[in-house]
Amino acid sequence: MSAHPDIEAVIGLEVHAELLTRAKIFCGCSAAFGGQPNTNVCPICLGMPGVLPVLNRRVVEFAIRAGLATACRIAERSRFARKNYFYPDLPKGYQITQYELPICIGGQIEILLDGDTRKIGLTRIHMEEDTGKNIHDAHGDASLVDFNRSGVPLLEIVSEPEMRTVEEAGAYLRTLRSILQYLEICDGNMEEGSFRCDANVSVRPRGTAALGTKVEVKNMNSFRAVEKAIAFEIVRQSEALRTGEKLRQETRLWDADREETRPMRSKEQAHDYRYFPEPDLLPLVVPEAWVDEVRRAMPELPARRRDRYVRAYGLSPYDADVLTQRKDVADYFEAGLADGAPAKEMANWVMTELLRIVREEKLDDALVIRDWPISAAQLAKLVCLVQAGTINRNTAKGLIPRLRGTATDPEELVRAEGLGQVSDVGALEAAVADVIAKHPAQVAEFRSGKDRVVGFLVGQVMKATKGKGNPQLVQEVLRKALT
Ligand SMILES: [Zn+2]
Repeated sequence: MSAHPDIEAVIGLEVHAELLTRAKIFCGCSAAFGGQPNTNVCPICLGMPGVLPVLNRRVVEFAIRAGLATACRIAERSRFARKNYFYPDLPKGYQITQYELPICIGGQIEILLDGDTRKIGLTRIHMEEDTGKNIHDAHGDASLVDFNRSGVPLLEIVSEPEMRTVEEAGAYLRTLRSILQYLEICDGNMEEGSFRCDANVSVRPRGTAALGTKVEVKNMNSFRAVEKAIAFEIVRQSEALRTGEKLRQETRLWDADREETRPMRSKEQAHDYRYFPEPDLLPLVVPEAWVDEVRRAMPELPARRRDRYVRAYGLSPYDADVLTQRKDVADYFEAGLADGAPAKEMANWVMTELLRIVREEKLDDALVIRDWPISAAQLAKLVCLVQAGTINRNTAKGLIPRLRGTATDPEELVRAEGLGQVSDVGALEAAVADVIAKHPAQVAEFRSGKDRVVGFLVGQVMKATKGKGNPQLVQEVLRKALT
């Protein structure tokens, strides 16, 4: 099974982002993740009768930040609504959300794919409360409810159905997460559920404008899962379209173990929820002065920072993208430049050496990496020592674990231990002569035209210099001695 070339997919994404406010959206309880079940609760977030919600101002500020970062119009007047449905994790019997008057309208997100940028339109961003969490007993004979999450503030970010491929959907999600992390309003942790994505997928014959039957896919808890689930749906629906089978408008769940989607329920319509304005909250008024205040405090966002790196430092768009996806990585890179490292070299070292360690040790699980393997100042110094020819690359790489967790100046370490590379031609000539004498077979091979054996001989000279030989000079001296 594969998608047919005459069929195109139409993809829209709905993201729920948990906000990093200290308190919940309508009460003073802690909004922190985890904790002993049912410890961060009060009559308001437990949905007791007779209590009144009070809107957390910080949630509105975060919503404005998200709206400004994605070029939305910030509504001067918006309003909360009740979305009525029954579920054990929703004790009130309704969720307070925004419906016909959301706080952010329109907007767009610019994605970078294969070196090209594309704009994906947003429909809206609105605020709402999260629900509690059902915990199903492993034996299936009991269900428990934890209300710690009940009332944690969420932003729902709804895209237009403007994505056509799995790759676009993946790029959109990663870009959106990066923006929210730059704004420091969401930690973007998909495994913990603080960044959740539902996908609306339909297919249609390429070149037609009418939308096909829409299927909503839920229950994906990683970027890979979202991409696999969308790919699965595109293939499944394309097959149905080709064979004339009728698709149902429905909600499907992604099964990560079986790598397939399966039906959950027929898709509810908006009128099933009996939305009506929330009578316990006044309409929300956001004066322009407040929007301006938030705008003045906005950080430089990833797309602009990426463009600046290309312009100011001559980095490739790909490298600039890797360095700016996370604000902490970009900050680290720039701190190295401030310490005198040349931009391109610093970029290479951050991307190859530092980010490798960061990924291997999952240091990037934190919203902000504080536990860098070595400081930006130390890396900058290493880069400069290599640039100046004082040490070679391998020596520099080997110093990273030794500098780890210390405030040691790399230059002092190099001096104290005599790690400076051997650029003395006389010393290298002696080592080369020795290697040539010890390896007559390889020397004969080289002289008979097998140039690649030179790598072996260089390796032997490097070994003789305890890895400190200047590799370029070793090559030169060796080739000269061999011819
Ligand atoms: Zn509470």
